[in-house]
Amino acid sequence: MNEQVLSLRLMKVGEKVPQDARLADIGSDHAYLPTFLMLNKKISYAVAGEVVKGPYESAKRQVAKNLLSEKIMVRLANGLAAIQEEDQIDTITIAGMGGALIRQILESGREKGQLKKTETLILQPNIGERTLREWLVLNGYGIVEEEILEENDKIYEIIVAEPMDSVHYSEKELLFGPVLLQNKTETFIKKWQREVKAKERVLGDLQKAQVVPQEKIKEVEEQLAWIKGVLA
Ligand code: SAM
Repeated sequence: MNEQVLSLRLMKVGEKVPQDARLADIGSDHAYLPTFLMLNKKISYAVAGEVVKGPYESAKRQVAKNLLSEKIMVRLANGLAAIQEEDQIDTITIAGMGGALIRQILESGREKGQLKKTETLILQPNIGERTLREWLVLNGYGIVEEEILEENDKIYEIIVAEPMDSVHYSEKELLFGPVLLQNKTETFIKKWQREVKAKERVLGDLQKAQVVPQEKIKEVEEQLAWIKGVLA
């Protein structure tokens, strides 16, 4: 992967970015995503935020090499602290991290007023999608688009959220994704079949324990029944 050829995962994240967006890519690593989008004239301005020095330096080099330093601001910052008022950011991408970390970044940004709550959020958690969807609902965001894809035997979900009044999702929608549930693609089925296998293994281990944890067993059995119901 480089700024010319993105991974399928990042390419799909990029496809969700609105034309001419003013983008903040948080946890940008090499700044491949904003650089690619700028080279392809998809965005008009970007901030690439990185909290770790090494990736920050790589991002700076990447942007300079492509003569984009005037249009992509690379900043060493924790989460949404990379965004400044005058950037007039309207779209935020956070990709390639766990859902819990993305939630923490958004929550901290909300507390500190760095999140204006007018931005489109394009999120790609590697795991922990449920907790992220829960944060979105609790904070007045509705999920307008979702995608599930497989790359190198890993399955990824992308969630696009926009500010919305009175959103409610059921427990099932939070777990499986309100949009993904409406169209159970092959990849969606594969993800949850894998999940069934993993949970059955956990169940087997729990049943072999010296002191059998009945409560935990009940919880896993319930989750399994639920997933099997959605797959049926
Ligand atoms: N977004 C890129 C992608 O999807 O390919 C890079 C993903 S990389 C696995 C995650 C990056 O997020 C790392 O470079 C890490 O240093 C950065 N990161 C983690 N926590 C962060 C935070 N709180 N603020 C900014 N960057 C963060």
